[in-house]
Amino acid sequence: MNNTTPLLSVEGLNKAFPVGGSLFKKPALLHATRDVSFTLNAGETLGLVGESGSGKSTIGRCILRLHEPTSGKVVFDGTVITTLSPIAMKAMRAKMQIIFQDPYGSLTPRMKIGQILAEPLKIHTTKSAVERRETVLEMLTHVGMRASHADRYPHEFSGGQRQRIAIARTLIMRPEMIVADEAVSALDVSIQAQIINLMVDAQREYNLAYLFISHDLSVVKYMVDRVAVLYLGSIVEMAKRDDLYRTPTHPYTQALLSAVPRVNKAKRAEKTYLSGEIPSPLNPPKGCPFGPRCSRVISRCKLEKPELRDVGGGHMAACHVV
Ligand code: ADP
Ligand code: MG
Repeated sequence: MNNTTPLLSVEGLNKAFPVGGSLFKKPALLHATRDVSFTLNAGETLGLVGESGSGKSTIGRCILRLHEPTSGKVVFDGTVITTLSPIAMKAMRAKMQIIFQDPYGSLTPRMKIGQILAEPLKIHTTKSAVERRETVLEMLTHVGMRASHADRYPHEFSGGQRQRIAIARTLIMRPEMIVADEAVSALDVSIQAQIINLMVDAQREYNLAYLFISHDLSVVKYMVDRVAVLYLGSIVEMAKRDDLYRTPTHPYTQALLSAVPRVNKAKRAEKTYLSGEIPSPLNPPKGCPFGPRCSRVISRCKLEKPELRDVGGGHMAACHVV
């Protein structure tokens, strides 16, 4: 471990959504994330992995303040961003970008690719129209597209190409960090590899940090430096890549890894690896959130939620029995 200041520091992040309220009924609180803390260094990739509904997107969105955290603190580049004014936050957004699973949703259908890519430059820079066009064409070729694509519309492209365009749109702002929320999950395996390669190349070139979100541990394996495993809104294990894949410590991570299918994995999106369902965050189990599905459960697990602690060499796990 070095002692440089991290680029991003998430401290005790909680997000509760009020759900099911009406005129006559108080809403219940759905705790999507509970006391989540981690750091991300400049140029580093942290994989954030967990089953559907575990709170991955909520964390990504809270970091960029697309959701307001209920409590906790996010520090980016030395600035506490959880309390920034909307104007200051807007300026900060140039440095922290997000890419989603379905870029189609975020690429305005009636705008040409060239206009879509020029838009952030218009908002955040003083470049002239000619300079913007030049930057856009350069970036398009940089992500493996052709300059002539600037005059086409999003629907004219495949999923992989659209993801390249979404990446180009984030890179054009020269961000320091990109949150990639299931950015390759909807793509075929061969295309997934191409997009991951593109992201890794961009990372080297721009010293980018990635928070790489995926429901699939095998997808993140070759590009991450560290991995955090999320279960029911809490981090249950966090370690350097090789430590996590070679010696998974938490019973949940062990179950996830033992069940990773070897062939055709991308085709079976959001497959259930474990017996039983992930419990509802509206009605979480007492004690350890993984207790009801754990084969090694002891009585303490039913009473006390295990804290994330160092189980050796910076390998963190939240489990009473390891
Ligand atoms: P993931 O990205 O890991 O699939 P999410 O962060 O999307 O998980 O969701 C975590 C939990 O929060 C889920 O139970 C989900 O239903 C709930 N949730 C997410 N967004 C909202 C919202 N806007 N309102 C109410 N509940 C939400
Ligand atoms: Mg999600």
